[in-house]
This record gives sequence, C-alpha cells and structure tokens, in this order.
Amino acid sequence: MIKDDLKKILVTEEQISARCIELGKQLDHDYAGSHDLLFVGILKGSVPFMAELIKRVSLDIQIDFMAVSSYQGTETLGDIKIIKDLEVSIQGRDLVLVEDIVDTGITINSLKTLLYNKGAHDVKVVTLLDKPSRRQVDVKADYVGFEVENEFVVGFGLDYNQKYRNLPYIGVLKEELY
Ligand code: 5GP
Repeated sequence: MIKDDLKKILVTEEQISARCIELGKQLDHDYAGSHDLLFVGILKGSVPFMAELIKRVSLDIQIDFMAVSSYQGTETLGDIKIIKDLEVSIQGRDLVLVEDIVDTGITINSLKTLLYNKGAHDVKVVTLLDKPSRRQVDVKADYVGFEVENEFVVGFGLDYNQKYRNLPYIGVLKEELY
C-alpha cells in the first residue's frame, strides 16, 4: 500500500475538504462581478485539487487544463515549455490558475506572463500548498490552501517519480525512499 511509504501526514483529507469549502466561498465573493471566468488547472498535479475546489464554487465558470515543463539547461529563470495548451480562447477573460504547489515560483510567474501576453484580462493563482521559503522569483499566490515547510511532499496530486498522486492526503515520504 502506498500509504505505508509515508513518514507522516501533513494535511488530512478532512482539512483539505474544509479548506476547499472556505476557498470556494472566498472565490464566490471575490469574483461575484466577473463574467466569463475560466479556471485553468496545471496538469497533472492540480487534478484532485481542481476537482475538489470547483465543486465548492457556485459561480458560472468554465475549466480548462494546461501542461508545462521547465526547459532543461537554460540560464534564465522562467522559461517554460507548453506540453499541452489551452483549448479555449482567453482573450479578455479573468483566469484563475489552479496549482498543486508553489515552490520557487518560476512556474506560476512564467505562466502569468504567458497568459497576459495571450490577452487574458486578469490572472490570479490559487494553490493547494505554498512553500514561501523556497521562492526564487518575486511572485505570490493569491489564494493558498496551506503553507508548508521546506520539505518534499506527496499526495493529493503531488508525485514522486509519478507515484503517490492518488493518496487522498498530503504527506512526507520515509527518508529511505528518496
Ligand atoms: P515551482 O515552479 O514553483 O518551483 O514549482 C512548481 C512545481 O514543482 C509544482 O507544480 C510541483 O510539480 C513541483 N514541486 C515543487 N515542490 C514540490 C514538492 O514538495 N513535492 C512535489 N511532489 N512536487 C513539488
């Protein structure tokens, strides 16, 4: 069982579920006047969070997904490669980027620039987890589920070598597994 590989659980299923209800209410409030709202999930890590969160949003929204990877071997911070692009137009739209975790900040920073360049009216970020101590670029998530310490976490979408995404909570692996 994959749960036997964990050293500890950091965020439980109940905590995630309760926090998604709160975030949903906050998004309902903040976007009450917005039309044509699009939630953009970043594959693959955001999938469980996206599913849980959008059920708690009562506004009229659409969803779409993107997949990105960082360029290997480049000197500059912030080059990302689009593996799967959006299927809908974002021209003039309000976007909510849905992420599993913001770590160095490079991914969301680059994505925000890219989406504004493609004509988005506004881009905000909601992330399940935030590791502010690891930031390399000056970017903030607008909505944060939970702040975590500088530890590598898995579960609820987050992987280690593509494994553990299906754990229903967030935890830390036993040292011998890394
Ligand atoms: P950033 O561009 O902010 O450094 O990184 C974001 C991506 O790095 C996340 O979407 C996630 O895929 C990966 N990542 C960063 N920290 C962790 C972590 O603690 N655990 C896992 N599983 N992935 C992480």
